[in-house]
Amino acid sequence: MPTPRRQRSTDDNAASDTAQRRHPAPSQPFATLRTCGELRTSLTSLRDTFSNRHHSLDFAYSHAHYLRNRVLAVGLLFLLLTPLWALVDIVMLPRDLWGITLSGRGLLLAGLAGVLLLARQSRERIGRIRVSAGLLLALPATFYALVLGIVPDGDVARLAGYAFIPFLLVAALSVFPFTLVESLAAGVALLWLLAFAQRVDGSWLTPAGLEGLWLLASLLAVSLAANHFQLSLLMRVYRQATHDPLTGLFNRGALTLHLEKLQAWRRQQGETAPACSVLMMDIDHFKRINDTHGHSVGDLVLAEFARVVSDQTRAEDCVARYGGEEFVVLLVDADVARGSRVAERIRSTVEAHHFPDHDHQRVPVTTSIGVARLGERETPQQALERADAALYRAKAQGRNRVTHAD
Ligand code: GH3
Ligand code: MG
Ligand code: MG
Repeated sequence: MPTPRRQRSTDDNAASDTAQRRHPAPSQPFATLRTCGELRTSLTSLRDTFSNRHHSLDFAYSHAHYLRNRVLAVGLLFLLLTPLWALVDIVMLPRDLWGITLSGRGLLLAGLAGVLLLARQSRERIGRIRVSAGLLLALPATFYALVLGIVPDGDVARLAGYAFIPFLLVAALSVFPFTLVESLAAGVALLWLLAFAQRVDGSWLTPAGLEGLWLLASLLAVSLAANHFQLSLLMRVYRQATHDPLTGLFNRGALTLHLEKLQAWRRQQGETAPACSVLMMDIDHFKRINDTHGHSVGDLVLAEFARVVSDQTRAEDCVARYGGEEFVVLLVDADVARGSRVAERIRSTVEAHHFPDHDHQRVPVTTSIGVARLGERETPQQALERADAALYRAKAQGRNRVTHAD
């Protein structure tokens, strides 16, 4: 199960650096070197779509979910086309080649059915989803290579309706949100397949053969561009749906989803499930800050508060903006004692922190925190309600303190 993990890296080319997203610098002059900014954004965007090295675990799950849907749709299409294609073989190919091609198509059909089954059963398994996407493209390519290898050289010219397979597969690359590295690897393999086919049919290094290679390389470039734009868009949509733009933290919806996944996983683990704690925190008298210093300073305080809290937690913990000036921290592998220690550390760090207004003057900020252990059997909502009740008690007892639900 996905251990909920805060986004450490970049998942959005629009504001790609998460650290920068989480700690926006509103006091920066508006006329920042715009061209440099755009260039940097483009480069970061390319870095993010080039490989999945910089993707957060959380985005990897969203990405895999999207990839899985594509694998199921395209796989089903290939599965339906394969028997239809056999009819084309019967019409186009000489009778003595039917045995090879039809048995090859039978194997291809079985392989595609296997890929669909694998994708269907891999809802949360990122690795298996990637493998199924790779297999979906590799199976028709292997089928073509095998047919070329098995059919006697003299008969290859009679294989009608096969030469387009590498082209079809390169075009299909653009349907999937692959990273550029993944598409490039598949594209090079398909170029190799075309070169192999040309050596077998004798068109290698002839004008027609070179034209074919050039066409495939051009199609690959178009597919790579499509992959880049598709993945960039996916990242942007993902970020907008799951992150709060002011603080860069997860939003309430993303937190709830995390908690649900975490609880499902913990139930599977049974006795060995790690203890988890929920911290519900609320900035004290925040309305006063707005009223005294203005709304824009209030925004600065919220962004800075988010940074302070994030710095006090580990990468595997999940920090979210729950609403206005309320935040939630989900501490993974933390019993109530550890939860309380972290909460107290956050409270004292916030109290001592220098929150600056526009003139760099200190804005005094304190926070009240309610701590609840995440019960194995309870719903995320129940745990949040208990943490909220504890927070309410902290407020009633005078604010700037930590209170336990348990
Ligand atoms: P308490 O100690 O009881 O929590 O008092 P409080 O003043 O913090 O709580 P209250 O609920 O009365 O006020 C919360 C304020 O937070 C009101 C709302 O205008 C402000 N707020 C909510 N979201 C934002 C935001 O995004 N930016 C700014 N600047 N203010 C916000
Ligand atoms: Mg408040
Ligand atoms: Mg509040």
